[in-house]
Amino acid sequence: MKQSAAFLGLAEALERVRSTTSKNQKVETLSEYLKGLKPEDAEIAARVASGRSSARGSKDEAQVGYSTLLEVLREVTGVTQEGVSKSYLRHGDLGEVAEELLEEKKEQPLFSDPLTLGDLDEAFQRLRSLKGHGSAAAKRGVVKSLILRATPVEGKYVVKVLTGEMRTGLVSGLLEEAIAAAYSLTKADSARAHMILGDIGLLARQAAAGDVSGIKIRPFRPVNFMLAEPLATAGEIAEHFGKAAYAEYKYDGVRAQVHRAGGSVRVYSRRLEDITSSFPEIVDSMKGSEGDCILDGEIVPFSDGRPLPFQLLQRRLRRMEKFAEAAKNAPVSYFAFDILMFGGEETTNQPLSNRRALLRRLVRGTTVRLAETADVSTEGEINAAFRRSRELGYEGLVVKDPDSVYAMGRRGSGWVKLKEELDTIDAVIVAAEYGHGKRAGVISDYTFAVRDGDELKTIGKAYSGLTDKEIEEMTRRLKEITIKDFGYRRKVKPEIVVEVAFDSIQLSERHDSGYALRFPRIKRIRTDKGVADIDTMEKVESIFSGQRLKVDER
Ligand code: ATP
Repeated sequence: MKQSAAFLGLAEALERVRSTTSKNQKVETLSEYLKGLKPEDAEIAARVASGRSSARGSKDEAQVGYSTLLEVLREVTGVTQEGVSKSYLRHGDLGEVAEELLEEKKEQPLFSDPLTLGDLDEAFQRLRSLKGHGSAAAKRGVVKSLILRATPVEGKYVVKVLTGEMRTGLVSGLLEEAIAAAYSLTKADSARAHMILGDIGLLARQAAAGDVSGIKIRPFRPVNFMLAEPLATAGEIAEHFGKAAYAEYKYDGVRAQVHRAGGSVRVYSRRLEDITSSFPEIVDSMKGSEGDCILDGEIVPFSDGRPLPFQLLQRRLRRMEKFAEAAKNAPVSYFAFDILMFGGEETTNQPLSNRRALLRRLVRGTTVRLAETADVSTEGEINAAFRRSRELGYEGLVVKDPDSVYAMGRRGSGWVKLKEELDTIDAVIVAAEYGHGKRAGVISDYTFAVRDGDELKTIGKAYSGLTDKEIEEMTRRLKEITIKDFGYRRKVKPEIVVEVAFDSIQLSERHDSGYALRFPRIKRIRTDKGVADIDTMEKVESIFSGQRLKVDER
């Protein structure tokens, strides 16, 4: 590890990236920095630049709570709790707090070799491996030894990665561009390799080693899912395609990729996590399939030919009950709607019509179900399919272009979705309060925010939608991620994503987004989404102006 590059170089490059608003300059700065690194260092640097301490999809994260970080900062700098709080109120960012406080470090390390990227990665690995009873103290020790050795600007980025709050404006597309520029790849090749590898660090490593052209989809390495564009009406959809399209039921469950090779089967979530052990029936349902294959589809709670409420699945995902019980309470079926590999060959570049034919062949002999499809071209036909889907208990439709390729990780125009509600917003909880009456003693009121560039802006407060059990569990988690405790109210680390339904959006002075959701209710806790996946101000504004049009028309 000794020849690994100094971490200071990366921290300074990230400072330069952060200080410019120009996307080109961000890309140029990072690519210049990456150029000089060897593959192993490029992997660590690119991953850290993306705000992650571990590869996307890896089972364990180097999670360290705010409270641990604050404690370490106090110990190392000797600043009081009040001093830290004041600094936090000034900056609103724990990384910047670390930078400010570390200027006056009290303790000095026993030896003071500069930190390298390798040291950093080793510490992250240690943090990931520490689990269970007694791990909190050990984690604090690892963080403390890092912070002790860190210069102020290094401390800032250590904390930023450990809290997942990078805020440098380096979105995934810019990172792909910087890697392309550093290693003389086209942007398209860089983006494609990223989708297949699923992790920006691996991309940088392979690119630095000059090894990108041979990257292919392969079993047991999940790829990013294709997403659907929302459209408001059947009429818009008919116009969008202007030709015959496939209308599939929109199944309400958990998106999942099923990989099969050499007799074993694994299931991956939308976050590319391995969720096989939660769904052994899906492994069974693939029995009888042949050859290496990768399927895309939805795991749906399903029994007697009908879908069951989605909430049943959440207990299974959180492993709140034993498997036998879970399978009885929430039996599931896998509804496949796409195929990315068939007989060991990648199929993503084939038109959907071909992929569907292959999928049909593959599931023959298995108990995997095919998503139901109707051929539609007119507004009337789309509306009829939509009503049928709703009557059967599904959420709406995903309408697909038969000629479209599978666009990994993209919200391509090849797939559009139609739902009944005005819409829902995925937002992150940023503060919470204890309830009253029946809800006294539990944290049941949640203030949530959407994304506005690098910032979070609050847009509402919800009191309803969750069951008592869910509120209990929420209370426990919110306590764990509390940043500041004001007694009845807490500011929490933005981490829990909720899908919020509402009646309309109003202008509001109460929330810093300038809008408020009217009659918000939590539809579900989105364990499959992280804060990077929440909805943006653009979406809020577009729903707001759309609803204005409707009112005006009336
Ligand atoms: P998005 O996934 O578009 O960010 P979201 O997670 O809120 O938004 P929805 O708006 O509900 O999801 O719609 C897209 C999701 O619908 C897909 O990610 C997938 O999980 C699900 N889905 C259900 N049925 C289908 C289908 N037949 N084809 C494609 N996706 C489907």
